Amino acid sequence: MSEERGDQTDAGRGWRGSLRRAGLSGAFFGFAASTTEVMLWTVGRVQRGLATPRDSLLFDVALSTALGLALGLALSPLVRRFPARAFVIHPLMLSVLWATLGVVAGMPSLPLYVVLTVVPWFVALALVVGMGALERRRPRLRRLPVIAVALIFVGSLVAPSAAEMASGIETAGDARYAPPEGAPDVLLVVLDTVRADHVGAYGYPRDTTPVFDALATEGALFLDATAPATWSLPSHASLFTGTFPTTHGAHAEHRRLDVSGPRTLAEVLADHGYETRCFTANAWFSEPLGLVRGFQWSDESWRSGRAGQTRLYALRLVDRLGFGARDNGGAEVARGFEEWVRSSPDGGAPTFTFVNFIEAHFPYHQVPTEHLELFTDEDEAELRALSLALMEAQFGGEPPDTARARGPATDMYDAGVHYADALLGRLVDALRERGRLDDTLVIVMSDHGELLGEYDAFGHGTSLHREETRVPLLIRHPAAFEPGATVSVPVSTVGVFATVLDVIGITTPDAPEVGSLRQTVAGAPGGLVVAERYALPEGTGGHGGDSPLFRRDTRFRTYRDGDLELVLTSDGSTHLFDLSTEDGESRDLAEGRPDEVAALDARLRHLAAGAGLADLDGAPIDASDVTLDDETRERLRALGYAE
Ligand SMILES: [Zn+2]
Repeated sequence: MSEERGDQTDAGRGWRGSLRRAGLSGAFFGFAASTTEVMLWTVGRVQRGLATPRDSLLFDVALSTALGLALGLALSPLVRRFPARAFVIHPLMLSVLWATLGVVAGMPSLPLYVVLTVVPWFVALALVVGMGALERRRPRLRRLPVIAVALIFVGSLVAPSAAEMASGIETAGDARYAPPEGAPDVLLVVLDTVRADHVGAYGYPRDTTPVFDALATEGALFLDATAPATWSLPSHASLFTGTFPTTHGAHAEHRRLDVSGPRTLAEVLADHGYETRCFTANAWFSEPLGLVRGFQWSDESWRSGRAGQTRLYALRLVDRLGFGARDNGGAEVARGFEEWVRSSPDGGAPTFTFVNFIEAHFPYHQVPTEHLELFTDEDEAELRALSLALMEAQFGGEPPDTARARGPATDMYDAGVHYADALLGRLVDALRERGRLDDTLVIVMSDHGELLGEYDAFGHGTSLHREETRVPLLIRHPAAFEPGATVSVPVSTVGVFATVLDVIGITTPDAPEVGSLRQTVAGAPGGLVVAERYALPEGTGGHGGDSPLFRRDTRFRTYRDGDLELVLTSDGSTHLFDLSTEDGESRDLAEGRPDEVAALDARLRHLAAGAGLADLDGAPIDASDVTLDDETRERLRALGYAE
C-alpha cells in the first residue's frame, strides 16, 4: 500500500516536472522569438526615422510569450515520452508548430521567418539545458530564469517610455507677440492618403464623405488642389513651412525636417500667443523627424496605433483570427481631441490644432467592419490577404495581379476614406457642441492621394501622377470665406500656410513660396503649383508602374499651368501632358510641342525665382551638414537617433 502511494507521488512529481519544463521552454521560446523580431523590426523603423509604437510591441511580446507557453504545454507529452532527448525534441517541435502557424497567418518574409524560428530554438535549448544544470546544483534557484525574463520585460517597458516621456511633450515658450485682435482658433485636419476623386464633393459616385461634402457647402472648396509631394513627411513639411521640398529639405533623400530649416506654422503661431496642439497616430510625427516642431503639446496616439503592425508575428496571428485592430489609431486621436475641446475653458489663448487621420492608408483591411460593409460584401479573409499582399508590395514584395486586386482594394480604400470622414465628423461635432465652429478657421485636406491600380501600381510616394497629387481641400470660416464658393484654378496646398497667417492677420519676415489662397477665391491666379519627388533609396516605396514617371533614380518636379503639366527631371528629360484630354498623363506631348514646353519652362523659372525656389538639380543634400541645437541633439540621443 505504502509502496503504491510512493509510486503515485513519484509519478505526480514527474508529471508536474515535465509540465513545468515544457511550459517554461515554450514561454522562453515565444519570448525569444518575439523579442528577436521586435528588435529587427525596431532597427528598421529607427533607420527610417519612424516612431516606435512601443505599447503594441510589448503587446506582441506578451502575446507571443503566452502563445509559446500554451504550445509548450501542449507538447509536454514529448518531454515525458523522451525525457533524455526532450531538450532537443521539444524545442524542435515548437519551431515546427510556430512556423506552421506563421504560414497560416501569412508571414511576409521567409528569410526573416527562418531566423525567427531558429534563433528562439537555440535560446530555448540553451535555457532548458542551463536550467537543468542549475537545478541540479542549486535546487532553490529554479525560479531564477523566470524572474530574469520578467525583469527584462518590465525593464524594456519602463526605460524607453521614460526617455520618451521626458522628451515627447514640450512646454510652452514665452510668446513674443500678443495674438492679433479677434484672432480665430485654427483647426487643420489632414485626411491622410485621400485622393480627391474619391471624395463626394469632387464627383465620386459613392457616398464616401458625407461630412466633408456638407462642410464644403459651408466653406470654399478648391476643385483642383495639388499636394507638393506624395508621401507624409515632405508633404506635411511643406504644409507646415509654406515651402516646397527642395527648400525645406525633408524628402526621400533626407528624411527629416531639420531645425535649421524654415520656421513652422506652429512655431509662428506659438510666437504670436497661440496654444499649439498636435493630434495624430501617424508615425512620421515623431519628435526627431521635425514635424512636431512648434507644437507645445502633442498626443501619443501613435504609441498604441496599429498601422502596419500586422507585420509582427503574434499581431498577425490575432489579425488572422479576426481579432486584429480595425483602426489605425483614429478613434484614439478623435477621442483626445473631443476631451480637450470639452475641457478647455472659453476665453483662453487662441488655439492652433493640427489633426491627422491615417485611416485611408494601407493596410486597407484595417477599417471598422461597419464601414467596410458599406462598400464590399467580399469574404473578410480574402480581403485581408489581398490587403497584406498590397502592403508587402510597398516593402519590396511581389505585387498581386492588378486586374484582380483593383476592385477589392478600391472597396477597402473607400471604406477607409468613409471612416476618416466619420472621424472628421466627430471633430466638427465637438466644436459645434461648444459653439466654437463658426469662430474657428477650419481647413480640411489631404497630404497626398493613392494609386489604386493605375499604371499597374498601388500605394503612394513612388510617382507624381495625378492620382497621387490631386487632393481634396476646403476652407471653412464664415467671416473670411463665402459659404459655397468654389475655386477651379489650380492651387497648391502649400498655400495653406500663408492663408492661415493672412486670415489671422500675421505677417512674417520670410515670405512663403505660395501666397494666401483667400485671393484665389476672389479670382486671383493660383500661384506656383509644383510637386516634387526625390530619388527613392533602395528598399523604400512600392513597385513603379509602366510609366517613365516612376523611375526611382532621378528627381522629378511637375509644374501645373492651366490644363498643362510640365514634368522635369534632374537628369534633364522633359515631359508634357494635357490633363484635359482623355489620355492625360499617359500620352507625352513634349516631343511634338517644343514651343509650349519652352514657354512653360520659362514661366516656371520666373515664378520659382520669384518665390525663392531653387532648381531641382542642385547639389545633393548632405545630411551631415545639419546643425542641431544642443537641446535637440540631447533629445535625439535620448531616443537613440544620434551619436
Ligand atoms: Zn501621408
